[in-house]
Amino acid sequence: MSVRVRFAPSPTGPLHIGGVRTALYNYLFAKKHQGDFILRIEDTDQNRLVQGAEQYIIEALKWLNIEPNEGVGFGDGPYFPYRQSDRKNSYAQYAEQLIRNGFAYYAFDSEQELEALKNAIPNFKYDAVTRMQGKNSLTLSTQEVEQRIANKEAYVIRIKIPEDEIVRFADEIRGNVLVNTTQMDDKVLLKSDGMPTYHLANVCDDHIMKITHVIRGEEWLPSAPLHVLLYRFLGWEETMPKFAHLPLLLKPDGNGKLSKRDGDRLGFPVFPLEWTDPKTNEISSGYKQQGYLPEAVINMLAFLGWNPGTEQEFFSEEELINAFSLEHIHKAGAKFDFEKAKWFNAEYIKLLSNEKLADLVKEKINNLFGQQDANYLANAMALIKERLTFLNDVEHFSYLFKSIEKYESSSIEKINKIKDALDIQKLENLLNALPTESSSIEIALKEFANQNQLKIGDFMKFLRVSLVGELSGPAIPDLILLLGKEETTKRIKNCFIQL
Ligand code: GLU
Repeated sequence: MSVRVRFAPSPTGPLHIGGVRTALYNYLFAKKHQGDFILRIEDTDQNRLVQGAEQYIIEALKWLNIEPNEGVGFGDGPYFPYRQSDRKNSYAQYAEQLIRNGFAYYAFDSEQELEALKNAIPNFKYDAVTRMQGKNSLTLSTQEVEQRIANKEAYVIRIKIPEDEIVRFADEIRGNVLVNTTQMDDKVLLKSDGMPTYHLANVCDDHIMKITHVIRGEEWLPSAPLHVLLYRFLGWEETMPKFAHLPLLLKPDGNGKLSKRDGDRLGFPVFPLEWTDPKTNEISSGYKQQGYLPEAVINMLAFLGWNPGTEQEFFSEEELINAFSLEHIHKAGAKFDFEKAKWFNAEYIKLLSNEKLADLVKEKINNLFGQQDANYLANAMALIKERLTFLNDVEHFSYLFKSIEKYESSSIEKINKIKDALDIQKLENLLNALPTESSSIEIALKEFANQNQLKIGDFMKFLRVSLVGELSGPAIPDLILLLGKEETTKRIKNCFIQL
């Protein structure tokens, strides 16, 4: 049987990086086994829907290049449609089937009646012990039940959880999971508006869509016993998917789940793309907007909860697919590591060709410093590639794109003693005749310093401040080559005047 996995988010907000990791693990697992990866939108809880969230999920998966081969936004497959609200009429039949077979029942309890039960019974839950006090098809006569339904009275359908039984299943990550049904309650499967709840829709769709492995966050582990019972009661136990519940993503500094607040507090995004809250208009930054490369985000996320069992940290997508396995997913929560995220990004930037890097930053550069020639931009990238942690860092290198407007005052102080010793006309002549190769330029500059009794260190500092505005930056011969004779001469003369 070929592997089929799904990412099944509810569009209740932007995708958190924990959700991205779930999508990624599903994707890697599917690819590793030449299987299918499906995106299913679980939007049966219409009250919690957030405008724009579904589109955001699709865009985020596209940016990260973890694209499903079936699903909402990615093309139809054999089990179309993939949005649960578009399948809403398909679920009631399964709830009815459960009732016919004695595994579920109609419940007519009004909100006030439920409230009264809660007040009367300490720690109330609707279950094997309390259900006989409710208004449902187990306590009312068949005739009355039929009458109520004919009168269009509101009802829900609840699962009838066995009274005292152990439900067990083997989780691929946590091993054997055992839960006594006394811990469970008679969850609603079909709501009074005819919509299924998450549990019913999720199990029915996983079965219908022939899902072989359910890989999802640990927060769904408590729901798994209920799902196991549903598979059994619906007669689908034979083809029940395997379960793998992923460890939580934790705060970098302390315990507890990683939240948006941690990101705001410590300066990293928790969303892949920028998100504008449609209600408050609050904007949250995304990895993309902060200048991360999708490959780096993927590599970093792959390691939050999994390791390859070797020392290797740097993985291309293909290598990740080959190395990935559910056995190497950890049980313990994974601490988000901001430093590691930055390191991955810097390393991935270094791997880009100059042209590709130029292409990724050209919009930003052109907006900031005016239109740049594509060749020039690629050459400029060669000089600073090693210094970038984020793509956005290019904005700190204005000296590559425009003349120096301000010299750092402490740098100027360090070079002003060269003023009396330097014959600027001679230097201009040298620049005019400068060779076109970095190492020859270096030799020519040193010779010039020697011949003119200039301290080589002071001379180089002067050139650096002239070209950069401060005492940092790439190698001087490289800078001269990039800027060209004319611009170099202009900058040097300008700086000399300021001394
Ligand atoms: N709709 C659930 C969510 O929002 C999916 C849980 C599952 O994968 O079964 O995460």
